[in-house]
Amino acid sequence: MNSIDATATEIARAVNARETSAVELADAMHARIGERDGAVGAYLSETSELAREYAKRVDARVAAGERLPLAGVPLAIKDNMCVAGTVTTCASKILEHWISPYTATAVARLLDAGAIPLGKTNMDEFAMGSSCENSALRKTANPWDLGRVPGGSSGGSVAAVAAGEATIALGSDTGGSIREPAAFCGVVGFKPTYGRVSRYGLIAFASSLDQIGPISKTVEDSALVYDVMAGLDPMDATSVDRPVEATATTLREDLRGVRVGIVDEFALDKLDADIRAVYEAAYADLVRLGATLVPVKLPTADYGVATYYLIAPAECSSNLARFDGMRYGLRVEGADVGATYEATRAAGFGDEVKRRILIGTYALSSGFYDAYYVRAQKARTLIAADFAKAFADCDVIACPSASTPAFEFDAKSDPFSMYLMDYYTIPMSLAGLPSLSVPCGYATPAGAAGPMPLGLELSAPLFAERALLGIAHAYERGTMHASKQSIPAIPSSATVGAR
Ligand code: GLN
Repeated sequence: MNSIDATATEIARAVNARETSAVELADAMHARIGERDGAVGAYLSETSELAREYAKRVDARVAAGERLPLAGVPLAIKDNMCVAGTVTTCASKILEHWISPYTATAVARLLDAGAIPLGKTNMDEFAMGSSCENSALRKTANPWDLGRVPGGSSGGSVAAVAAGEATIALGSDTGGSIREPAAFCGVVGFKPTYGRVSRYGLIAFASSLDQIGPISKTVEDSALVYDVMAGLDPMDATSVDRPVEATATTLREDLRGVRVGIVDEFALDKLDADIRAVYEAAYADLVRLGATLVPVKLPTADYGVATYYLIAPAECSSNLARFDGMRYGLRVEGADVGATYEATRAAGFGDEVKRRILIGTYALSSGFYDAYYVRAQKARTLIAADFAKAFADCDVIACPSASTPAFEFDAKSDPFSMYLMDYYTIPMSLAGLPSLSVPCGYATPAGAAGPMPLGLELSAPLFAERALLGIAHAYERGTMHASKQSIPAIPSSATVGAR
């Protein structure tokens, strides 16, 4: 086995068996990135030296008799996660040249388990966005149609896996940033329960929502990555002290006895006919594989987007206050300290980040705090309570990951239509639930180069990762949508954004 297109599970097996080497894989993957990334634009920086160093170390450890769960598996890392000695930009001008002083716990755990760090991937600036178009540093295209967005904010990570420029990737999900782009690019994206994976070394956007998770070609690979990185970390006070059940070894093959909740408020008749047909078929597949569909209600889910767009900006306005030109990144000198703050932040932040800081500062200001921030927190509690009630009758909830396939560049010019892209993912984030997107079919929107993937979102009660991944795996194996279509050939001479 020497294919760089194999799954992480296959690669780790082959490297552990010394059928192929981590060094060979790392070199082949960097060559692949060289061929394809001009057209895709998944990476902001490659860490080829570091990759070689780690690959050599993995080969030596395996030769010495160690067995590593991610031996030689090529990994792409979203550029809001610190990797010591590498530039970590959050795709922002304000951090464009900033070098991480330490490595994020989630990343460190994967590297220790044998993963090879290929590079840092593009994203919406500070993870604010749903298309990757808010990156201040580069454009990323959807490998299925180079004239369309990959989704966001983890657009680079997802595009890298979809284009075969990484085997696995890390993303972060605050309101949908792993699941929505995973759906757009036809890969698996998994957001664990809030607190399951350490946020230490993840540059904060909205701390009560941010969660790191895996992006991969198969559910099994996501389970493998999750098993390695989940669990208590003394460096993150919100990481949960609760045993992590292994998931990759307990995946199931059918859905007998599984109750899948179908949300009344997410009725499919809101969707375009061709997309609705894909989800109707997906629900029918769940039944064919042995599941029972149970209608459930989430009466407050419709308030998710409004609630999120108070809480997330409020937390972001506080978290991003630290970027003032004094300690991190860009500094634009002004006449005095105040003028330096102002000039630095005016030059360093993009429009969407500024918009969020303004909304959040307003929502937290005295006089408006109770009317906006406190009410949003109350709505959040009600949304979580609705889920708890729904899960009395079902094991998982199924719904679309997004209402459309990937759209064209510049298609969403007003912020609100972009915010609505996370309609199906935000409620689960507010409730802290584990939730993932798995490929469930294709639709061909007008003007598309060909069929575009769609994702089925499956969500489970808090800490029910094992059940969730098991059910997702059975659905994936029983449908095999990812192997029904493949991405068109990527021209090596193309530049990102051009068709
Ligand atoms: N698209 C949402 C936002 O812009 C979610 C982003 C995320 O999950 N990081 O806030």
